Amino acid sequence: MTSRQPSEPHPRQPYQADADDRHDVAIATCEDCGDNFDLANSDPRTRVCAPCWDRSLEAVETAFLDNYAKFGAKAHRTVAEALFRSQALADPDDRKVIGMRIVEEYLNAAQELMALYVALRRRHEQPLLTTFTNFELNAPSVAAFRILTTGRTSDELMRDLQLPTLADVEAARGEIPRKDWRQFAGAVTAVADGIGRVQKVDQGVLLELADGLRQSSALTHKLEWLPDRVMNPDQVALVVLNQRRRVLMTHALAIHEPQLEVFIDAIDKITAASRDLIWLYLHVRDTLALEEQQTDTASGPQRGPQQGQKWGRA
Ligand SMILES: [Zn+2]
Repeated sequence: MTSRQPSEPHPRQPYQADADDRHDVAIATCEDCGDNFDLANSDPRTRVCAPCWDRSLEAVETAFLDNYAKFGAKAHRTVAEALFRSQALADPDDRKVIGMRIVEEYLNAAQELMALYVALRRRHEQPLLTTFTNFELNAPSVAAFRILTTGRTSDELMRDLQLPTLADVEAARGEIPRKDWRQFAGAVTAVADGIGRVQKVDQGVLLELADGLRQSSALTHKLEWLPDRVMNPDQVALVVLNQRRRVLMTHALAIHEPQLEVFIDAIDKITAASRDLIWLYLHVRDTLALEEQQTDTASGPQRGPQQGQKWGRA
């Protein structure tokens, strides 16, 4: 992948306007493959063509997912749990702030599990990293996710992602080590459980809050300063100024310890689901690659993809 200087003020590689083109289309030369490409919809500093860019994303996909499973996903749980522990000693106002930040971690974790699901589902159309990093939690994306996942069994979810189902694994039970079988079954269950927790993201004020948090982080514990606005003593509100509509929006959230415990539990389940979903995907991909190798090297057609180390570690 091409390294970039984020603060670079000017294009390092000057782009030439194509002299033959009357419309003065900006053309650049790809640093990776040497082909010319159109800069029409890109930053003029872009140095690689779209196909090379996609290939470079695919090249780092496994490492990215592996890192995210071990570190990035868990980060939301780490932060939320640390906040939860600290709120026991905090005064009531600080507890509201901490509560709001825990809910924010729930929203972050939920967004990433949805992003991962959608990215895996579209992996044959677009690099996984592109879908994953561009995914935004909002009303349309949550509605679309609901249509994909509501009322689905864990096996139906796996089938939707083109991953093996529990029924597939059950059928291969005699061929795979018991430890692998248990890990696989546990992962499939964890993914379904995490997806169930994510589906609650459009309840109450959560979606408006997710939207508001992209624009503001200003919290308030009182609303008497705004006309016709009231807030319960146990609530904290996010203040968002909508300049286009010329309104001050406030999204109030009640902070109760039992409610926060529900969020902590949800973050735990969601981050476990993200980790296990990545494990399933990488494991299955490695296994398929191994089978292909074996099919290539083994003699005779009797060694089909259904045999051998179907679910074994690669
Ligand atoms: Zn290229």
